[in-house]
Amino acid sequence: MDRPTNMVILTGAGISAESGLRTFRAEDGLWEDHRVEDVATPQAFRRDPELVQRFYDERRKNIMAAEPNPAHEALARLDREWDGELLIVTQNIDDLHERAGARRVLHMHGEALSVWCLACDARHRWTGTLRDAPGCPACGEGALRPDIVWFGEMPYEMDRIFAALARTDLFVSIGTSGAVYPAAGFVQQAKSAGAIALELNLERSQGSAWFDETRLGPASEQVPAWVGEMLR
Ligand SMILES: [Zn+2]
Repeated sequence: MDRPTNMVILTGAGISAESGLRTFRAEDGLWEDHRVEDVATPQAFRRDPELVQRFYDERRKNIMAAEPNPAHEALARLDREWDGELLIVTQNIDDLHERAGARRVLHMHGEALSVWCLACDARHRWTGTLRDAPGCPACGEGALRPDIVWFGEMPYEMDRIFAALARTDLFVSIGTSGAVYPAAGFVQQAKSAGAIALELNLERSQGSAWFDETRLGPASEQVPAWVGEMLR
């Protein structure tokens, strides 16, 4: 392919799985043995806020104990050394891209280490628990929720993502099932704008047919190899 000048990279659960972080599984609808309807919807939060807060307290703890793997490190290297336009859109709520050193990262499903105050709308970095309804650092109200996009809520920064997809030459999808919209539709958006599409995944996904090329294998092997080609 011609050397691209403008890339959009979508990352999903497969890239963090190798750092030991499990996520929602589409096959059985379970996330760490919880039904998604019980922990990852606005209705669940209204019904049983304590269960939801405990669930994300646990996610926060696990994320802080995890380390970036060679796939995160390779993308951070690409971000540092690639002088074209680049946007890493992640569906993951962990901070492993940032901890590996990547800067051009957009969290479309929010971040576990961020809280959102429903009283004053402020967002704060948060590494502790929320189960005892601590006060918001800005307004003092005990109205903090995880800054996560739950099922049934609108993902963040869709305008910015679609603008980037409309002008990208290369769309790369890493470790995502191709089953959850709107992210599953990004490849069609990029293709209709004329981009080449590459998929790096452990196994063929529901969306594989849309890609010009699919490379199968662990992200920790496939991503460093691909980044090496791009920076050669
Ligand atoms: Zn507040």
